[in-house]
Parts: sequence; C-alpha cells; structure tokens
Amino acid sequence: MLTGKLITIVGPSGVGKGSIARSLQQRHSEIHLSVSATTRKPRDGEIEGKDYYFLSKSEFEAAISNNEFLEWAKYAENYYGTPKTQVKQQIANGKLVLLEIELAGARQIAKTYPEALRIFILPPSLEELERRIRNRGKNSEESISQRLKIARDEIAAKDEFDVRVVNENLERAIAEVEAVIFKQ
Ligand code: 5GP
Repeated sequence: MLTGKLITIVGPSGVGKGSIARSLQQRHSEIHLSVSATTRKPRDGEIEGKDYYFLSKSEFEAAISNNEFLEWAKYAENYYGTPKTQVKQQIANGKLVLLEIELAGARQIAKTYPEALRIFILPPSLEELERRIRNRGKNSEESISQRLKIARDEIAAKDEFDVRVVNENLERAIAEVEAVIFKQ
C-alpha cells in the first residue's frame, strides 16, 4: 500500500529532466529521487549508487527474474530499471518519489500505479534538443542519432501525460514542475 506519492518525469534524452529532478531533490527534503540500475557504462564523473547502480547484463537479467524492478526497459541497447525495494520504502516513509525514466517504463508505471503523477518535459524544438545532446559531449555519433530517433517517438507520446512542461529556461521549468507537484 502506497502512502507517499509516486511521480514519473519523462522526456527525451538531453531535455534536462535529470537537472530538474536533481534540483527538486536538493530543494525539498520530502522529495526522493530514485536511483536506477543500468547496464550502460558509467560516464566520466558518474558515481555508483548515486547516479546509477551499474550492473552487468547478467546481473540485470537475474534481477529481472527475481522481480526486483518496479519497471524496467531497454533503451539504446542497454537495460534500465527502477529497484522496487528502495521506492517502496521511501513511499512508505511518506516521501514524494521521483522516477526519471524513459517512455516504456513510464507506461508500465501508468498501468501498475495509475495514481502516479506523470510529467513530460519537452525541448523548445528538436534542433535545440540536438544541440544540447551534442554539447553534453558524452555520446558517440551513433548514440546521438539513436537518441534523437527515440526522442521523436517519445515526444509523439506527450499527450499520455498529466502535465507537459517546456524546458526553455531551466529555472522556469523547475518552478513549473514544483508548482505541479505541490499543488496536488
Ligand atoms: P542515460 O543513459 O542518458 O542516463 O538515460 C537514458 C534514458 O534512460 C533516459 O531517458 C533516462 O530517463 C532513462 N532511464 C534512467 N533510468 C531509468 C529506469 O530506471 N527505467 C527506465 N525505464 N528508464 C530509465
């Protein structure tokens, strides 16, 4: 039985949803940002247990078999998943738990937890999104085009969400998401 609240934040790679989610966690002690597991290799500066739990493919598949994920999905040839125990504990403690995840996972959450609040973050344009992904400088050319292709599909699903926020200006986008979460 969930007593806190589950909130999914979805949007294409590079849109800034990670920055929005991290600032919300820093500003509000009642917000807990869930740490996902992934088979993707750590980027420079990423920390195990803080940014992700980095697992091998076989470790991840074993966790799927043991039903350890609230949701999981394959994205750009890697697995990503939300560990169930952590989220359930935080919700039971009355926290607002943010899941910063991709579309397939968000759709699973919509089925299993229809009461979850679902927020979609949009870029001002696809051109701006591409510029942001490139400026991040952390993806190969192949991964950039794969991420842009997925971005188009994700943006096409924006109407499945309760709220849409355009991230043109980070501070404004954070304020909008904050208003949506706390007015509930
Ligand atoms: P990145 O490789 O850029 O860190 O993440 C790629 C995509 O995977 C992003 O859209 C991110 O939101 C999503 N993602 C991160 N963690 C999870 C998760 O636990 N489940 C799902 N379904 N997607 C995730």
